[in-house]
Amino acid sequence: MKSVFETLAAMGHEQVLFCADEPAGYRAIIAIHSTALGPALGGTRLLAYASDEEALVDALRLSRGMTYKNALAGMDVGGGKAVILRGAGPLDRERLFRAHGRFVERLGGRFITGEDVGTTPADMELIRRETRHVKGLAGEGGDPSPWTARGVLRAIQAAARHRWGSDDLAGRTVALQGCGSVGGRLAAELHRAGARLLVADVAPDRARHVAAELGATVVPPDAIASAEADIFAPCALGGVLDDRAVRELRAEIVAGAANNQLLEPRHGEALAARGVLYVPDVVANAGGVLSGGADLFGWSRAEVERRVHAIHDTVLRVLDLAAADGAPPALAAERLAEQRLRARAATG
Ligand code: NAD
Repeated sequence: MKSVFETLAAMGHEQVLFCADEPAGYRAIIAIHSTALGPALGGTRLLAYASDEEALVDALRLSRGMTYKNALAGMDVGGGKAVILRGAGPLDRERLFRAHGRFVERLGGRFITGEDVGTTPADMELIRRETRHVKGLAGEGGDPSPWTARGVLRAIQAAARHRWGSDDLAGRTVALQGCGSVGGRLAAELHRAGARLLVADVAPDRARHVAAELGATVVPPDAIASAEADIFAPCALGGVLDDRAVRELRAEIVAGAANNQLLEPRHGEALAARGVLYVPDVVANAGGVLSGGADLFGWSRAEVERRVHAIHDTVLRVLDLAAADGAPPALAAERLAEQRLRARAATG
């Protein structure tokens, strides 16, 4: 087993903090992966972990993912993540999140946090009482989902160009998994682009609503990944591209909003071996992160729109690089992100 420092060196982290305020019931890990492009940006999640090691691995993996996602989106921010370990006892959210806010404050702006799994805008308000290095408060920033959906559409168009020589989706069939905030909007965008839609959701009303509005066909949730379609768009859960899905998939392209779609990196290799074009989720779903630029950097709506539109070109670069290197696209995306980090390190 690798030592902690060997793990940090292998994954490239700058700093990892173990934070505790026992009277507040607060134990957390703040992982700063990279500040090469700017302050490390990443959410704070609150979860019951099976062990401290599991929490550490989560923080390390997620913070590195944030570095890559932000770098690929062309954002001048780095990557970080905080995980608060949920204990067995009752939760005093005010004491917990204020304790967290004090640790974030001590980092002096090297880490900017926001909402994530298990936390809410109200929790961010509690953090804000101790530090200004927090985003995503209630009523601030707006809903990122429409931007995420637009970015996924651009990613699908780029993949279509790479595979079939044209962005045109007219007459193509898209199997859409998850008709929530992003999936519902993506369905409308795809419908406008002339695509035929197969939709599934574990909440049947949501799928039926989209079907009624857009003339889509409802498919049972366990059949959507293997449906007869040109494109599979996962917009529900992570880990959906597992052994079974890879084996049964009939679509030629996979591109969607869900985070961590590949259950394991080897599933990216297996898709490539089957000739399925996979658009890495970190590139396809960057619209939400980009919409945060309005708040972070004062970008105008037109600027956010231009950058979300440009997800198309980033996807093409990733897919071209993957083809040239004979590497799965997920690996090509990491290489492209690392190129940007190295270029910044060289220019200072
Ligand atoms: P959401 O909760 O609004 O929608 C998810 C939908 O998927 C729900 O309708 C849910 O019922 C459905 N679902 C859950 N399990 C399913 C299954 N097994 N089969 C079919 N449907 C299932 O979430 P969202 O905001 O639309 O986000 C969707 C995905 O995109 C998530 O993985 C999220 O992490 C990711 N994402 C979202 C954004 C954003 O801006 N909201 C940005 C980046 C990434």
